[in-house]
Amino acid sequence: MELYDVLVIGAGVGGLACGARLSRLGYKVAVFDHHYAAGGYATNFKRKEYTFDVALHGVGGLGAGQSFHRILDACGAADRMIPLPKEHPYSIQTLQQRIDIPKQATEYKQLLIRMFPDEKSGIDSLFAAIYRLHEEMSFLQDPDVPGWKKGALFPLRCRLLMKWSGLTTEQVVRQYVKSDAFFNFFTALWGYYGLPPSRLSSLYFFIPWTGYHIEGTYYIKGGAQAFSDALVSVIEEHGGKVMLRREVTEILLDNKKAYGIRIKDGTEYRGKWVVSNASPAHTLGNLIREHECGMRYRKKLLTKRIGPSLTQLYIGLSCHPEVLGIDAEDLLFLEEQDHAKDYENCMHGLYDKANFGLTNYSKMDAALNAYERGVITATLIDDIRNWPEEKEAYRWKKKEVTDIFLDRLDGYYPGLREKVVITELGTPRTMMRYTKNPEGAVYGFAQTVAQSGIKRTSSRTPISCLSLVGAWTQPGGGFQGAATSGFMEAERIHRRLQ
Ligand SMILES: Cc1cc2nc3c(=O)[nH]c(=O)nc-3n(C[C@H](O)[C@H](O)[C@H](O)COP(=O)(O)OP(=O)(O)OC[C@H]3O[C@@H](n4cnc5c(N)ncnc54)[C@H](O)[C@@H]3O)c2cc1C
Repeated sequence: MELYDVLVIGAGVGGLACGARLSRLGYKVAVFDHHYAAGGYATNFKRKEYTFDVALHGVGGLGAGQSFHRILDACGAADRMIPLPKEHPYSIQTLQQRIDIPKQATEYKQLLIRMFPDEKSGIDSLFAAIYRLHEEMSFLQDPDVPGWKKGALFPLRCRLLMKWSGLTTEQVVRQYVKSDAFFNFFTALWGYYGLPPSRLSSLYFFIPWTGYHIEGTYYIKGGAQAFSDALVSVIEEHGGKVMLRREVTEILLDNKKAYGIRIKDGTEYRGKWVVSNASPAHTLGNLIREHECGMRYRKKLLTKRIGPSLTQLYIGLSCHPEVLGIDAEDLLFLEEQDHAKDYENCMHGLYDKANFGLTNYSKMDAALNAYERGVITATLIDDIRNWPEEKEAYRWKKKEVTDIFLDRLDGYYPGLREKVVITELGTPRTMMRYTKNPEGAVYGFAQTVAQSGIKRTSSRTPISCLSLVGAWTQPGGGFQGAATSGFMEAERIHRRLQ
């Protein structure tokens, strides 16, 4: 039986960040993943001569000294990846016009005031409040302020954060600006967080917002795989291992204390601590026998609301996207202006109506594919229940939805269909198959007010020496959220093992 300090189940962003941080702190780490590539959603795949990024469209805070950069730096990975600043955080295409959202918050505010002059004073107050939120977050993320001081000063220094943590995105925006047109435009990016503004916790809209508009939006050279590989290299260079095609089938417990894992071929590994980057449902429902886990805890976790999945069409073209007039990096097509209605369209699988986003990888990273091999994706929020389980029906539905996407894109960019060389449709079932996340959830538990901030599932479990990390746990989903959870839990494990 091989012996490690820490065993990590799952090489997603949370598992790798946790493993990398612990490796840097001197622990011998082994990471196990059932997939052939490391990264969970944060991977690339190849079809013919095309390289597709599974997940990354954009992240904030990767500039030197910024929030995400600091976490990656502590994990030893910041200088192993090259952030590529985006020209615009995103662009919006309505039926009438395309609007590129400016990089700088000050310019964005001016644009909004030009578009909605009657709302000027509300817009000014909203932006002032967002800056205050950013200051509060910077205080919490400041590595030079000790944890005890942050805790003691939290009620005094983080008043807005406390207040907004109990409000939805809509409740916050409407406090400042009443106009529906402004509201719909300003919150158009809701799809990135998986719930419409009427249900989405304001923290999960505004904290990434500050990252995007105050710190800057980035892609990473080489795509999501380059991000994950950077974390893998830290683990391996510190004597750890990342073992792929290794499915963990059991967490070994003795008297409610985790001491190892068993993989599918029966091999056992022992460690002082076990970290699971798999979903709580899979960890507690499949990897631990029922009687070994606190029933109340288990029931509480298994009855939480799961967040949505995504359907994404990966398209390889026989020309650069700019030849077809596609020159934005990330473009949201806002055909339906009412976000609550659009969410329902997505959840009911109305693929011909639901708003979708187009990402132009050829523009974000010119080196990912040759110039004449354009790569774009079309993405929308989706529900696994829209996808039949039966193989043949599923295959037909994939074909039907691929055609709908291509027709819609061809409507915006005539001639696009003729340039399509290859397509691959990732559905919620694909997401579930590769990551084992229930319902193919991409941000873990739904990011509602009741499941966010300090109410989000903690990394601690009632089983001694067993932790959960990743999008399902605090602080939440996305590359930065999942990496932060892994980093924070690594720090706690270090304090316990020291
Ligand atoms: C199409 C798409 C677009 C996205 N766009 C963005 C974006 O632009 N920006 C952003 O910040 N976020 C984006 N996200 C979300 C982001 O990718 C995820 O929130 C984040 O990567 C989740 O990381 P995680 O740590 O929770 O791990 P996951 O990615 O969920 O990985 C979990 C890992 O655990 C492994 N595992 C599970 N069970 C076992 C087992 N029994 N044995 C071994 N291994 C196991 C799985 O194989 C998997 O590798 C996107 C996601 C998708 C799908």
